[in-house]
Amino acid sequence: MTKRIAVLPGDGVGIEVVDEAVKLLNLLNELDPELKFEFDHFDWSSEYYLKHGKMMPDNALDVLKEYDAILFGAIGDKRVPDDVTVWELIMPIRKNFNQYINLRPVKLLKGVASPLARDAPIDFVIVRENAEGEYSNSGGRLYPSTEEEIAIQNTVITRKGTGKAAKFAFDYAAKYGKKSVTSATKSNAIIHSMKLWDDAVNEVAAQYPSIELDSYYIDALAAYFVSRPHDFEVVVASNLFGDILSDLGSAVVGGLGLSPSANLNPDGEFPSMFEPVHGSAPDIAGQGIANPIAQIWSAALMLNHLGREDLGEVVVAAIEDVLTKGEVRTPDLGGQSTTSEMGSAIREAVQKQLVKEG
Ligand code: ATP
Repeated sequence: MTKRIAVLPGDGVGIEVVDEAVKLLNLLNELDPELKFEFDHFDWSSEYYLKHGKMMPDNALDVLKEYDAILFGAIGDKRVPDDVTVWELIMPIRKNFNQYINLRPVKLLKGVASPLARDAPIDFVIVRENAEGEYSNSGGRLYPSTEEEIAIQNTVITRKGTGKAAKFAFDYAAKYGKKSVTSATKSNAIIHSMKLWDDAVNEVAAQYPSIELDSYYIDALAAYFVSRPHDFEVVVASNLFGDILSDLGSAVVGGLGLSPSANLNPDGEFPSMFEPVHGSAPDIAGQGIANPIAQIWSAALMLNHLGREDLGEVVVAAIEDVLTKGEVRTPDLGGQSTTSEMGSAIREAVQKQLVKEG
C-alpha cells in the first residue's frame, strides 16, 4: 500500500512534534513490508506569509488534492494576525476538502493520572461538525470605528450538514459497539439554529433504535465533562461547541499535549487532515520540550483512516506503554524529558511490539 502524505508542520511546536510523528511513520515503513509512505514537506506557515504575503501559494489546494492524507502540525505566530493564519490556511483546507467531521478522541491513557483522579476509564470521542456552524465568514461590520459600530457574525446550521455529522456519530457508535450518542445543544436560548440542529440530530437518531440519544444544553454538558466524563461514548457538537468541549476534554485527560484530532472527509473525495488539538504553543516553542504525543496519536488516526487500524492500535499501545513506565515524561506531564526523547521512546516501544508480533 503506497500512500502519499503531504506534511505541513506549520509554526511553533508544530515543527518539532511533526518531526517526531514522521520519524515514527518512517519506522513503520521499515518494519511493515506492506506499508509504503511517501512524504512531501511543505513550508506553508506564518514564516512563509512574512516572506510571500500569503499563507500558502495560490495553487496550494490543487497540490494537496493529489495526496492520500495531510499530516498537519499547528499554525499561530504573534507576528501574523490569528484571523489570517486561520482563514488563509486551515479553513480553506477544511472547507474546500469538505472535511466536515473533526474527530477528537478523549481517552485517559494508561500511565496518565487524570486531574479528576478517579480510577475509572475515560474514553470517548467528540464528533465536531467542521464545515459550517458558528465558524462562518458570513457577516460584517457596520459603521467602523464609530460609537454605533455593529458586528454581525452569522451562524450557519443546515439540516444536511448537521445530519451528516450526526450520521457519522451514530455510524461510529454502531461500528465500535457504543450504546449512546450525546448531542450538545442550546435550543432553549438559541431558538432558530439550535432547534434545527436538534431536529436534524433527532431525525438521524430515529434510524438507530439500538443507540440512545442524550441531548444536553452545552452549559450543563460542560459541567458533566468534569463531574462524570466516564459516562460519555460519542459526543456530537456544532463547530464552536465541539471546539470548546475538546479543550475541556483534553484538560480532563491530562492536557493538550496528549490530544489528537482528525479532520475527515468521510466520503473519500478529498484528502483528510490529521493534526493535534493544540496550537503552536508559542510559550514553549523552540525549546525542544513540547510533548509529541498529540501529534503522534494524530498520525495513528491517519493510519486508521488509511485502513491500517492494526498499526494505529500498536502506536497508541506504545504511547501507553511509555506513559505507564513513566521514565520518559515531558514537562507538561511533570517530567524533564525532551520532545525527541519522548519520540524515541515511543518508536522503541513500537519496534518492540512489532518485532514481538512479527
Ligand atoms: P495558538 O495561538 O497557536 O493557538 P496558544 O498558546 O493559544 O497558541 P496552544 O498552542 O494550544 O494555544 O497552547 C495552549 C497551552 O498548552 C500552552 O500553555 C502550551 O504551552 C500548552 N501546550 C500546547 N501544546 C503542547 C504540547 N505539545 N506539549 C506541551 N504543552 C503544550
